[in-house]
Amino acid sequence: MKVAVIGGGPGGIAMGIQLARAGYDFTIFDRCDGFGGTWRNNTYPGAACDVPSHFYSYSFALNPRWSKTFANQPEILAYLEKVAAEHKLAEHLVPETRVSTLRWSDDDSRWTVTTADDATHHVDAVVTAVGMLDVPNIPDIPGADRFQGRAFHSSDWDHAKSTAGERVASIGTGASAIQYVPEIAADAAHLTVFQRTPIWVSPRFDEPFTPEQQDLFERDRVEALKVRDAAFQAYESANFGADSTMTQELTAMARSYLERKVIDPELRAKLTPSYPVGCKRPLQSRAWFPTFALPHVRLETSPIVEFTERGLLTADGVEHAVDTVIYGTGFHAADYLRSLDVYGTGGRRLRDDWRDGAEAYLGTVVPGYPNLFTLYGPNTNGVTSIIYILEAQAEFVRRTLDEMSREGVRAVEIKRDIHDAYNADIQRAMQDTVWLANCNNYYRHPNGKVVTQFPYSGTRFVEMLASVELDEFDWKEVTACQESTTRR
Ligand code: NAP
Repeated sequence: MKVAVIGGGPGGIAMGIQLARAGYDFTIFDRCDGFGGTWRNNTYPGAACDVPSHFYSYSFALNPRWSKTFANQPEILAYLEKVAAEHKLAEHLVPETRVSTLRWSDDDSRWTVTTADDATHHVDAVVTAVGMLDVPNIPDIPGADRFQGRAFHSSDWDHAKSTAGERVASIGTGASAIQYVPEIAADAAHLTVFQRTPIWVSPRFDEPFTPEQQDLFERDRVEALKVRDAAFQAYESANFGADSTMTQELTAMARSYLERKVIDPELRAKLTPSYPVGCKRPLQSRAWFPTFALPHVRLETSPIVEFTERGLLTADGVEHAVDTVIYGTGFHAADYLRSLDVYGTGGRRLRDDWRDGAEAYLGTVVPGYPNLFTLYGPNTNGVTSIIYILEAQAEFVRRTLDEMSREGVRAVEIKRDIHDAYNADIQRAMQDTVWLANCNNYYRHPNGKVVTQFPYSGTRFVEMLASVELDEFDWKEVTACQESTTRR
């Protein structure tokens, strides 16, 4: 079987390793010039992972040399590149090639992959591994064209010119801004942070690993696994219920931290959220609150109305003149596969099928789209290290392809009733979660449906995926004369 993998990030690497080990003919397309995905794109100052690195790594490629609890972006990128190199994935990579369209042919049961330069490739199966945060959200603020300064998104950082000594505006207060704002505040002449919604922040316990600890992890895999397991268990025991003890305790702790760190009552009021911890992604930083005590940093809560030639105008009539505007405004996370046009059986369009919110069976397969697998697909986010999920998904895809080959099956398509029952169940389970509390988060489709999060534990996801059988799919056999018959 010939397989196309779209994306060379953590998911594409996990998939490539599975396919390489099993001897498949495969290609990994990536819009960038190498492996790493989100860790290649997001190079903003202070970029780091807020999942402990010993758990934010592949189980088959532990890294005893992580420098600290939460490694920074360069270290994570180097790790991913090293894993890809060790598995000789470069020979399968087609870099700097953006895939635009995937089209299934009912006649020959194959996918046609079209790239932005209009080249086409015919494959038996496609694995999308584009991540969930691949398309930046740049809000449509009136007058953007007239602004004379520079503007860029956090995931497309302009390293050509430093923000040191500049007057900077930063829009948004999410996971990215919380990391780069304290960094650029250090040497900007003036920094205005435009906040639409305040966020809960807890202190980050980020400790370096000593050379002795690293040597121990290198010598004794069990010691490294202990550190990994501690993080794993913390996620497994999490309870994202709207009124769970965990939610209440984390909210109380975050409130107490805020009250200790922000003394000025006016500033504290501006920084205090009105929703429980967890409704938005929980954030950790020791540098966020102290940044607003700096004399040249201002927290602005008056809504942005428009760009002017010199900067941004807010609803209170104030013009904020700046040299640089940074969009820390996140991604189109809930709009899955936004960058791809996907056509399945009978020419159906995935964008239309997902009109009311993306859905897949175990985040990985979708009825109407045979031999298409979506890594980090709908409802796979939020409850564990995504690397753990991606590894399981990649293994599932490889196992399904193996079984197809063994059974002489040309195409598999998840049965609609199985897909629908699964999605009804997870949406029922979702009703009690903190993700539906009263906050604006990127987990939801505009109609309110949570499309990104998995409402059970990571282990439950992995076990469910591991127990999927080929008879949960409709399938087409390969007959002696290569004609297909559909079996149900
Ligand atoms: P985000 O969490 O979605 O935050 C976007 C921010 O921009 C929010 O504060 C949002 O305000 C604001 N915003 C959006 N549109 C706006 C508009 N039109 N006007 C004013 N403000 C606007 O995005 P992010 O910070 O890039 O993080 C996205 C995700 O990336 C994270 O949740 C996480 O999954 C991932 N990430 C992970 C790490 C890590 O450590 N592993 C680090 C960085 C990012 P509202 O709150 O009002 O919507």
